[in-house]
Amino acid sequence: MADPTDLSIAEAREALKRKQLSAEELARAHIGAIERANEALNTYILTTPERALEAAKESDARLRKGAARPLEGIPLGIKDLFATKGVRTTACSHVLDGFTPTYESTVTANLWSAGAVMLGKLNNDEFAMGSSNETSHYGPVVSPWRRTGSNAKLVPGGSSGGSSAAVAARLCMGATATDTGGSIRQPAAITGTVGIKPTYGRCSRWGIVAFASSLDQAGPIARTVQDAAILLKAMASHDPKDTTSVEAPVPDYEAAVILGVKGLTIGIPKEYRVPGMAAEIDALWQQGIKWLEAAGAKIKPVSLPHTKYALPSYYIVAPAEASSNLARYDGVRYGLREPGKNVISLYENTRSAGFGAEVKRRILIGTYVLSAGYYDAYYLKAQKVRSLIKRDFDEAFKDVDVILTPTTPSPAFALGEKSGDPVEMYLNDIFTVTVNMAGLPGMSVPAGLSSEGTPLGLQLIGRPFDEETLFRVGRAIEVAAGPLAKPQDWWSRAA
Ligand code: GLN
Repeated sequence: MADPTDLSIAEAREALKRKQLSAEELARAHIGAIERANEALNTYILTTPERALEAAKESDARLRKGAARPLEGIPLGIKDLFATKGVRTTACSHVLDGFTPTYESTVTANLWSAGAVMLGKLNNDEFAMGSSNETSHYGPVVSPWRRTGSNAKLVPGGSSGGSSAAVAARLCMGATATDTGGSIRQPAAITGTVGIKPTYGRCSRWGIVAFASSLDQAGPIARTVQDAAILLKAMASHDPKDTTSVEAPVPDYEAAVILGVKGLTIGIPKEYRVPGMAAEIDALWQQGIKWLEAAGAKIKPVSLPHTKYALPSYYIVAPAEASSNLARYDGVRYGLREPGKNVISLYENTRSAGFGAEVKRRILIGTYVLSAGYYDAYYLKAQKVRSLIKRDFDEAFKDVDVILTPTTPSPAFALGEKSGDPVEMYLNDIFTVTVNMAGLPGMSVPAGLSSEGTPLGLQLIGRPFDEETLFRVGRAIEVAAGPLAKPQDWWSRAA
């Protein structure tokens, strides 16, 4: 049989059921792949091989009895934003050094009760703030992809860069991720993986380190649309511990994948064409439109006039909520403690040593826009803009079933290329933040390669709680794009 790390989740599920492969073999193959790759790629900041093997043995016992659960024996990586009981969880911040939760996030608990196997904790931007995974306390993640003819290290996107890189490099079969302004979809797009941010409220936020609570959502990154559907089904649930989680049954997303696009109307928003956008991004978008038309969908132009205000208003709302959420890291309850001569200087010393530069920038911006003199001018105005963005989508969805856009304005950039300029970095999220501001589901599907030989993705935006249509349309794009090249395995040869 081929290298088991190359299988999709759906294929592995089949092979396990037919006893062509054991869960233990599958876990060992991934543990070996991580050992060979991690020094070069820095995707895992903590590995849990003993735990993985123990869980895999339990899966094998269940498989032998014919009592397999939906994700029985499937090895996954977990973004370090998810609290894992007894396993260090830091959100890749120095301020959470050594924090080992005594509880499990609802999303990961759902995965373990579906039979999934944890390989370890994945790198991310500190507190999920970033678009390149360069703000992590544990150092940057290196993408498994390289430009044709170049050895320059490329970013895997962010903030879920450990998740996207590990999935693309076959260091797990799928990974959890979170998305506040694009952190599932942007890394998926530039690593050639599938990422879906479900509707706000679809997955419980309980036990996920909070960044901006009204925008944060968990979702999977996987290698195929079907795998993303399988994972989302297991991750989603109503949870009384998160009052914003929705009390509605979780549909069978996998069943939706194969339904095709006949009869669907796809909206094309004219505002998603920004100055400086690479011509090849526009060309890919046009290609996507042609593919969907050829597969039987109708195409219709739509207008989302407030799109241009989405990024500025996101960078008011998200830091405002972050400044409030991050107030809890004061050296008293969690992680790092830097002593001081009194309690105030203990707070100050802990926070100045514990937070990185980008996180401090967000806290400063957030505190400023919430301050008495500026609240109305910035925060309140941004909230009003947010309502207008949502209204634009409500109007568009009267005429169309799903909206197609590029996911990112450019392919993967090199490490260090944008890290000196925050605004340049923020512009990566220009096409993704609107979706979080409106609470909608959004998905990125690999659609082709750039002129540099690196992946590009197309984004699908759906009606609230209509993830099923995203899976249908996502699959149609996946089929039309055909199998894409996979990253060359330079990291194990280097080791
Ligand atoms: N890149 C965006 C930010 O830095 C989004 C991050 C995210 O979705 N977590 O805010």
